Amino acid sequence: MADGAPGRLREVLARIAAAAKAAGRDPAAVTLVAVSKTFAAPDIAPVIAAGQRVFGENRVQEALGKWPGLKAQTPGLELHLIGPLQTNKAAAAVGLFDVVETLDREKLARVLAQEMQRQHRHPRLYVQVNTGAEAQKAGVLPEETAAFVARCRGEHGLAIAGLMCIPPLDEEPALHFALLAKLARASGLTDLSMGMSADFETAIGLGATHVRVGSAIFGMREAAA
Ligand SMILES: *Cc1c(COP(=O)(O)O)cnc(C)c1O
Repeated sequence: MADGAPGRLREVLARIAAAAKAAGRDPAAVTLVAVSKTFAAPDIAPVIAAGQRVFGENRVQEALGKWPGLKAQTPGLELHLIGPLQTNKAAAAVGLFDVVETLDREKLARVLAQEMQRQHRHPRLYVQVNTGAEAQKAGVLPEETAAFVARCRGEHGLAIAGLMCIPPLDEEPALHFALLAKLARASGLTDLSMGMSADFETAIGLGATHVRVGSAIFGMREAAA
């Protein structure tokens, strides 16, 4: 199913570089997070062999099944959690992931802080923002973002590195990317995770430091993930 993934990886990297240059940005300032959810280790290995080092997964359990082995084979891999995190999986997430992009509530902040102390592992943390204020979607509301980041820092002693968003499917993503960039500036955050296969060039134009691209590299997923 992932036949040709290394070739598609090269195309995506070229498009990222072109979008960065068009925006007057250094292509090295944009990191590709290759989203490998639903794909198995044998599909991912060729993409690692082609040089990709940063990957994203949306389920802790699924990631535990394939990434410890892949990480053992290739030093220097960086794994991002891009899906919702339940507190009962926080320990496993802290143990496996290098970046948790989906910090979205107080209780999770508290549990992550405890686990990071206990395991002496400190994944980078992004706060997920529900830029479209969608009822079914995770994330803190835009107007609550600055206060939430401040509480994570002040009450839980967490270093917050950035923000992430998933815009509503039926809206112009540029508006959401611009809002996320503005919220990050307001809280002094450097990392901006925004943009997927359909809109990563737009996100780069608006300041994305991390784009999360799955199907454009690995091909179509069999089921909605
Ligand atoms: C699946 C997923 C992606 C990648 O989506 P594509 O459209 O396949 O590029 C990015 N971000 C999140 C949070 C995802 O769940």
